[in-house]
Amino acid sequence: MGTRFRLFVQPPFEDARSSPEIITMSSPLGSLRAGPSDDRMYVVEPVGKTRPYGVNRGPLGTPYIYLPPWAGKIFEPAVPDEQGNFDHYRPSMPGFEAAHVFGCARFTLDVWEHYLGQPLVWHFRDHYDRLEISILPQWDNAQYGYGFLEVGSQFEKDGRVLPFSLDFDVIAHEVGHAIIYSVLGVPSPGTEYPEYLGFQEAFSDCASLIAAMHFPSVLDNVLTETRGNLYLANRLERFSEFSPHRQIRSANNKRTMAEFVHGWKDEHLLSQPLTGAIFDILVDMFHESLVARGLISPAVENLADIAEFDPAAEARLQDAFNCAFFRNSDGFFEALLAARDVVGTYLAETLWALAPDFLDYGDVARTMLAVDQAESGGKFSRILFRNFERRKIFRFRAGPRLKPPNRKSHVHDARIALPKDQTHLPAMSYLERYWALKPQTSNRHSPISL
Ligand SMILES: [Zn+2]
Repeated sequence: MGTRFRLFVQPPFEDARSSPEIITMSSPLGSLRAGPSDDRMYVVEPVGKTRPYGVNRGPLGTPYIYLPPWAGKIFEPAVPDEQGNFDHYRPSMPGFEAAHVFGCARFTLDVWEHYLGQPLVWHFRDHYDRLEISILPQWDNAQYGYGFLEVGSQFEKDGRVLPFSLDFDVIAHEVGHAIIYSVLGVPSPGTEYPEYLGFQEAFSDCASLIAAMHFPSVLDNVLTETRGNLYLANRLERFSEFSPHRQIRSANNKRTMAEFVHGWKDEHLLSQPLTGAIFDILVDMFHESLVARGLISPAVENLADIAEFDPAAEARLQDAFNCAFFRNSDGFFEALLAARDVVGTYLAETLWALAPDFLDYGDVARTMLAVDQAESGGKFSRILFRNFERRKIFRFRAGPRLKPPNRKSHVHDARIALPKDQTHLPAMSYLERYWALKPQTSNRHSPISL
């Protein structure tokens, strides 16, 4: 018996129609405590915390490392109901955000621990037993680092504040970083290639996408909107019309490594050729599986190739998909689940096999081809090779970084700062320490003490 939560697949501010779905997590019923919390992680909503964890600067500019645990006051935690579930928390109730962020993290871990074949061992285990998931509403970012997963809010120009605690994609993406730190690790000094940073973002986006594909409603939406004709949606860049799912939209891009040969500025952009390749691989595997299951004929597959250049064939192609989907929509679901699980398994196995030093996308591609050899005797090698080749991943590597990392950069000092690194930083004067550490005030809702 697992534990129930209410999760937004799409945050309410992306899609006003969305309402949270009741999802059961692997956590045994009764095992979760107030927070929510369990043996591996806990949610806190600190009172008066104004700075994110990581490398901060004191009032006089001296850098210092700020790490969990939060020892100050906290807002009232979410508590389980009599059975041990958290689905009694509904949007706008105090405690819903805490329950939601925990549920999203647990859901993503459930998905990926299955592919990885074992529970994730936190990379910060030497110092902390548990991950602190902290909600910092007045901060405009989200991050995963040494002992913490911290979520702020998006501040819109129209004044709206959109809490990342309600955004499954953002939370799942940060859990993706947690997986990389645990399984792959960080490069030794002097061995970090730009593509390591791009890989961090690409893998985290894929981790989020594959996790989202475990919500029945996401698959349902994609398939009923397209009738399984992802060819057209994908190749003609119309996916966004069909999918309200943001992560799918960003995965569906056409960037290649040729764009980054002379340099790059942002690892999120640099990640796109790899994320796009993996998304196209998923779509190609899905269609190949439809043909193999006899759900569409090879003639339809050919028609898809023609439709890419001849718009007159588009309508015939969509008709063929409409009929095929109507005949056996369950078969389409099974084919998409199968493709999702192959990609999930291949990504996990690739992560186990890679090393972080001197890592580039060519390594990722070659490793995934080797994984395919080992898992299936090379069943998907043609699809894998073709998509990595289209993104020019074997041909080009990223040039130098053209500007220093900005504050929004996800993989920066803050994320890899360790407690021992404080000894390398200059000491703050007494006065600066006093100002840096004096209690901060918050004007959000009224605090309670526990
Ligand atoms: Zn990231």
